[in-house]
This record gives sequence, C-alpha cells and structure tokens, in this order.
Amino acid sequence: MNEALKPLAQTLGTSLVTDPDILRAYAHDEAVLAPFEQPIALVRPKNADEALTTVKFCVANNIPLVARGAGTGLSGGANATKGCIVVCFEAMNKIIKIDPDERIAIVQPGVVNDDLRDACAEHGLWYPPDPASAPWSTIGGNVGTNAGGLCCVKYGVTRDYVLGIEAIVGKGEKVKLGRRTAKGVAGYDLTALFVGSEGTLGLVTEITLRLRPIQSAEKTVVGYFDDLPSAGRAAAAVTASGVSPSALELLDRYCLKAVDKWKNMGLADEGNVLLLARTDAPGEQGDIEADILLDCFEKSGSVWCARSSNETEAEALFAARRLVFPALKLLGSVLTEDICVPRTKVAEMCARINEVAAAYDIYIACIAHVGDGNLHPLIVIPHDEEEAMDRSREALEQIVDHAIELGGTVTGEHGVGLLKMRGLAKEVGPVVLDMHRSIKNALDPANIFNPGKVF
Ligand SMILES: Cc1cc2nc3c(=O)[nH]c(=O)nc-3n(C[C@H](O)[C@H](O)[C@H](O)COP(=O)(O)OP(=O)(O)OC[C@H]3O[C@@H](n4cnc5c(N)ncnc54)[C@H](O)[C@@H]3O)c2cc1C
Repeated sequence: MNEALKPLAQTLGTSLVTDPDILRAYAHDEAVLAPFEQPIALVRPKNADEALTTVKFCVANNIPLVARGAGTGLSGGANATKGCIVVCFEAMNKIIKIDPDERIAIVQPGVVNDDLRDACAEHGLWYPPDPASAPWSTIGGNVGTNAGGLCCVKYGVTRDYVLGIEAIVGKGEKVKLGRRTAKGVAGYDLTALFVGSEGTLGLVTEITLRLRPIQSAEKTVVGYFDDLPSAGRAAAAVTASGVSPSALELLDRYCLKAVDKWKNMGLADEGNVLLLARTDAPGEQGDIEADILLDCFEKSGSVWCARSSNETEAEALFAARRLVFPALKLLGSVLTEDICVPRTKVAEMCARINEVAAAYDIYIACIAHVGDGNLHPLIVIPHDEEEAMDRSREALEQIVDHAIELGGTVTGEHGVGLLKMRGLAKEVGPVVLDMHRSIKNALDPANIFNPGKVF
C-alpha cells in the first residue's frame, strides 16, 4: 500500500481497498472510448462519516476523488483519474424511509433504482425516473447524471424528483441542501445544481425524493416502419396530437436483429424500425389516447401497427428494448451517442445519422427515447474490425455537430463526463463555460471532486 494512504486505511479499516485486481474492476464505467487510470485506492464507505473522513484526508493530501455508483455511466464520468481514490457507494444502499403521507422517500446513494421502485410499489407509490439501466444503476449515480429514462417523456427526469440531498462538500463539510416539503424557495436551488453535476461538486450521501401515486395500467401501441425518417415523422405526429405518451421508444433494425440473435424473439420479421408507445391515462381516456397514437402511426406510413391486446406481450417488447445495449455488446464494442434534438427535428436528425454512417462506411444502430427527441446512435465495431475505431470516433463527433446545428444538445441524459467535453464547450460557448468554472472553483476550492471531467 502507498505509504501516504496508511493513516486513512487505519481509520477506515475494511472500507478501504488497495488490492490491484479489485481496483481494476472499479477503474472505469461503461463508456468505450473514455480514458481511465488505475486508482490508488477504493473506498466503500459504510456511512456518511466515512465519506467525510475520506474527503478531509484527500483535501489535506491533495488527492483527487472520483465518486461512483454502479459504474453503468456512458460518458466516463466515474472513470478513475491519475492518483485518485474512487469512492463507491455500493455499501450505502439503505432505503431509510418511505413516507406515504408526505409521498417522499429518503435513501442512501447506493440504492439500486429498481429496488427503490419495488419498495415504493409496496406502499402504492411510484418513483418515475426509469433509465434502461434501472436494474443496476444507483440513485446516487442517477442524481450524478440527472438520469432520464423511458417514462421521462411524460414524467420528467431525476432532477424533477430530487427535493433535497445531504452531501460532503468543500474542504470536508457535511451539508443538507433543499427540503422535504412539497414547496420551498429559500435561497438558490443548490439541490438542482448538484443534480447532474457528475461528482464535480461533492459526494452525495443521502437523497430525499418526491414520489407519485402508483402509475395506472398502461396500454401499448406497436408500430413498424420502413425507415428511420418515417418513424421520426410518426413521433412528431404524436407530439402534435397533444397526447402525452408515458413512453415513446424507437428501435431500428440493427437493434431488433441483435436482440433476435440473442433471445430469438422474431422482432425484425415485421419491419425495419419499431416504435413502442404507451399511455397510462386511466379508463376510457386511455382507450381514446391509444387510438390517437395508433392513428399517428398509420398516417405516418406505418407498414404494420396495432394496439396490443396482451399486456404481457407488450411488456416483453419493452423488456426487449432494455436488452438492446447488452445484446449489441455481444457483437462488438459499442460507441454510444446521446444527442437530443427538438422533437420536430427528429426525422431530419435520423436522416443525417444515416448520411454520417454512409460517409464513414460504418453501420450505426439507433435506439431512442424518441418522444423526448433523445437519440442514441450506437456504433457497433465488431471485435475483428478494431481499425474502424478512429473512423467511428470521428463519426460520433460529426453527429454531435449535427445535433448542435439543429438546435439540440450534446447529451440528453448520459452526461458530459470525458466524452462530451468538446461538445459542451461548443454548445454553451466560452462565457457560459467560465460560469461553470466559477461555480466549481467556489464550491470545490481544493479541486478534488472529479477534477478534469465535464469542462
Ligand atoms: C444498458 C444501459 C442502459 C442505460 N440506459 C440509460 C437511460 O435510459 N437513461 C439514462 O439517463 N442513462 C442510461 N444509462 C447510463 C447510466 O446507467 C446512467 O448514467 C446512470 O445514472 C449511472 O448510474 P450509476 O449508479 O451506474 O453511476 P456511475 O456510472 O457510477 O456514476 C455516474 C456519475 O455520477 C457520479 N456519482 C455517482 N455516485 C455519486 C455520489 N454519491 N455523489 C456524487 N456523484 C456521484 C459519478 O462520479 C459519475 O460522474 C444506461 C447505461 C447502460 C449501461
């Protein structure tokens, strides 16, 4: 063990690990292109006081800290940097309280998203943000990236549900930000600032979340299309119809075939692009909305569409959507994009993605939270074609530039991390980037919280 770490190891005991094999497993997230280093140690705090001790030690010894949840991030945000300690919150995974009267939950950061959703359901309550990584990703990580998900098209993203946080900040102070009440406007909204700050402002050690009553049963509409632009037009038609679907997801042929190859579901037999729409409007209103969704699909040129009469079957289609990323990873390295464009520009963005694929001679799979305009073009590089990596990297940057040109943003939900730093600078410009730096300098004067990420 590094001599300098010994005092911290003595205080933290088994919460501090320096075994190189274990450190290797905590050195990076799921982002393929993002660089990473071997950390000098891993701390798995059992409580906020251990996190506090770690921060004080790192400030005193000028050691950078990288916060980590489950490491499912797709931007390199949790990647270890040179000489850093990774602080992984997996051992702080208690749901402290679910309060049905106040409709709030208080959780430790290491709670897995799906575990919280299951626990809420037992009280007739619902925590909406549902990233496709919900079976693995943690609430702390979701807060770090302001995660979105399938039902965010209607119910908003993580930030819309975070009322308050406890965090270790500055030179080692434990603070409570935000509130537990339904309303409150006291002071700057520092809670909102922390959500999506990607570990650059402090370590989040507790989160108070707003809950909703449990969601009504959903009705599903399924539509197949010949190509991405016509599916994009169908998504725009849904927005224009005034219906707020509780999910509107797109999978292209490449995604369908990857899931078929793995799970043999026969998804690609009906068409090239699949749109999955859902409404959770209760009773008769749900039937009316499902009919409107179907009409939007038909009028936009769907080659086959129907209202699902069997919700188990419909659930299997949404489960297939969640399987796309792991299914593609079986085929090769997956470079993930995360641009978001105005919803009226989805069809044009899809056409531009096709042009980029042709220009760089690569195949780009596309999956999207299309109701939000949030597209995930995925470049799959088979393991025996690693020479396509540089071409693919350039293609991803081109896609980012197209998104900005269309009035979009470089990241809809995965965060800036290491992969979107150029894009962020281009999107916001030098003055706004300096505002980011000023905030970082003010709140992290020792520059130890995830330095070198985001900007
Ligand atoms: C198959 C798959 C599907 C995905 N689908 C979605 C999706 O639908 N929507 C979506 O938004 N994302 C999605 N993602 C990306 C990823 O799951 C999210 O970004 C998620 O929020 C990361 O959670 P995590 O616990 O893995 O955090 P990590 O990856 O470990 O960390 C993410 C960021 O948060 C910071 N952080 C973590 N914990 C803390 C803490 N306690 N205090 C301060 N900072 C912290 C880290 O430093 C890092 O910057 C997907 C990823 C995969 C692999």
